[in-house]
Amino acid sequence: MAFEGLADRLQETMKKLTGKGKVSEQDVKEMTREVRLALLEADVNFKVVKDFVKRVKERAIGQEVMESLTPGQQVIKVVKEELTDLMGGEQSKIAVSDRSPTVIMMVGLQGAGKTTTTGKLANLLRKKHNRKPLLVAADIYRPAAINQLETIGRQLDIPVFAMGTDANPVDIANQAIAKAKEDHHDYVIIDTAGRLHVDENLMDELQQIKTNVKPDEVFLVVDAMTGQDAVNVAESFDEQLDISGVVLTKLDGDTRGGAALSIKAVTNKPIKFAGMGEKLDELEQFHPERMASRILG
Ligand code: GDP
Repeated sequence: MAFEGLADRLQETMKKLTGKGKVSEQDVKEMTREVRLALLEADVNFKVVKDFVKRVKERAIGQEVMESLTPGQQVIKVVKEELTDLMGGEQSKIAVSDRSPTVIMMVGLQGAGKTTTTGKLANLLRKKHNRKPLLVAADIYRPAAINQLETIGRQLDIPVFAMGTDANPVDIANQAIAKAKEDHHDYVIIDTAGRLHVDENLMDELQQIKTNVKPDEVFLVVDAMTGQDAVNVAESFDEQLDISGVVLTKLDGDTRGGAALSIKAVTNKPIKFAGMGEKLDELEQFHPERMASRILG
């Protein structure tokens, strides 16, 4: 399970504060030292940890104690609020365009889970929000990617728009949108090409699609298991493409959680969804507060 080590350590640290009638500056310092180590061990970005600990310290030292809480509980509350904030605070919503269809562009490196997530997102929009999505296969470099999306479409009984590998991705996207209007689809989700590494050709192509299609959302799919790499990938995609949100996949694995805890702080873009397994119904909206509660117990 994700975050196990971090959760254990933070809960252990917080336990020392529970029920404390008085929390000294020394207690706060000891607590933040342990929180700092736990976060670093969970592979959270160094600078993110530093800022986090500074904020907790500032707020926890010398704060007024609310009548309903013991000082110990109050400090724990500060840690929880800051952890929630770190992951994005409020849970963010998915865009709905004034003009149907709403267009979502999925981007990411190969193997991150982009194609699977494209299917999962369509499934979630249909199931939870009663929407009628159209999937678009715009990865023209790998015939296998088109087949994979078509297989997913069949499994979900959601149509897939494809034009093979000879067409240009911008044309594919534009024709897919025209088709969506004709067939009254209210969401179009475009699965774009991925590469093994961030490279200029990939970014050029994605920028072209973005400029021409003007999507309502650009979701970057990153693999939580890759830790700091996921954060670096998010940073470069955001610089080049100005993404609107992140989908963190493989949170069901034993990731240490560093990516989940650093991405918002580093890119200032929210994590919108979390992939929790290989199955097509294993995508959840990302709730920062719930995640913080899970980590702190
Ligand atoms: P793409 O190259 O980015 O399109 O990646 P794929 O969609 O082909 O996914 C790569 C692998 O990751 C596949 O085996 C997926 O089943 C798996 N995968 C995707 N999302 C998740 C997830 O949330 N959890 C787990 N455990 N596996 C996932």
